[in-house]
Amino acid sequence: MKIRTGFVSNSSCSSFICPICQESYFIMDGDPTSNTHDLCLCKNGHGFCQNHIIATEEVILEQKRKELKNYPEYDIPELDNLTIKELKKLFSLGKDGWEIKDKRLYLFNHKFFSDMPTELCPICSFHSVLKSDIIRYMLKVHDVQYVIEEIKERFSSYEEFIRFLGEEENED
Ligand SMILES: [Zn+2]
Ligand SMILES: [Zn+2]
Repeated sequence: MKIRTGFVSNSSCSSFICPICQESYFIMDGDPTSNTHDLCLCKNGHGFCQNHIIATEEVILEQKRKELKNYPEYDIPELDNLTIKELKKLFSLGKDGWEIKDKRLYLFNHKFFSDMPTELCPICSFHSVLKSDIIRYMLKVHDVQYVIEEIKERFSSYEEFIRFLGEEENED
């Protein structure tokens, strides 16, 4: 069975499939940010598992500092002058391993991973190129009519063509 990538709606609880690794998650109302423990959403709308973020701890901390300034509800004095060590302490997590210990930063992690800077997104930074984007690219640069002719020439029937496509898909 073909697994759809992205949002598969089914009443209020639905599943989200990471477009990078195909891992499936339960989310609410088709919104991957309802599960920011595991998932994140970048500012360009790419949803994926948090473990695909490719950045050093220091880079993530600096991005959090930058984002923190965009939220007027959080008022952290001298934010610009905090050292990396102080930032690490500021954003350190409580016992549940998710919520930030510092009560002034209530829900900050949720907001951060729901609207993450594109610098931390593997898709926006070209670490991963989505199959759907590759297909869009191929359709843009190739003469579709020519491809259609090639398909007709190469395969004697639709069944043979589909069988070939199925084999290709299983390769990854
Ligand atoms: Zn993933
Ligand atoms: Zn992105």
